[in-house]
Amino acid sequence: MAREIECPICGRVFETTKPNKRYCSFICREAGRNLKRLQWEDSHPGYNAEYAKEYRKRLKTK
Ligand SMILES: [Zn+2]
Repeated sequence: MAREIECPICGRVFETTKPNKRYCSFICREAGRNLKRLQWEDSHPGYNAEYAKEYRKRLKTK
């Protein structure tokens, strides 16, 4: 079933049938992802670098 959502990036209202879709386009999705990461890094100062290091270590051992 289609539902209307407003894109949080550009404000355009669009219809989608996908329950987890939030952005109107690929470009807005990328923008939203960058924005989210920036906000997250703002609220977790210093944590991101450590987490990335641990994550890379884990990838290597797999
Ligand atoms: Zn948009």
